[in-house]
Amino acid sequence: MLGGGFFTYLAKTTAHRNTLQKCTRCNVLYNKTTDKCPHCSALNDTELSLQLSKRKATRLSLGKSMFIGAAVIILIMFLLKI
Ligand SMILES: [Zn+2]
Repeated sequence: MLGGGFFTYLAKTTAHRNTLQKCTRCNVLYNKTTDKCPHCSALNDTELSLQLSKRKATRLSLGKSMFIGAAVIILIMFLLKI
């Protein structure tokens, strides 16, 4: 049955989601069955803060370029109207 398969799939994905937890150190989701977070357990505090600041910097530059993109689009719209 197609419907039955779908519900099995849904149950499986829900169960999968329940096995994930957010790491308190690096805020990345990881499997509950592993006792240590695979993303940051290998890093010491200095390396972790470096990683986090790098991630933050990437997010900031992305926001900036999106803002510039929006400004350019508005400028083009403004110029085309005149
Ligand atoms: Zn972690």
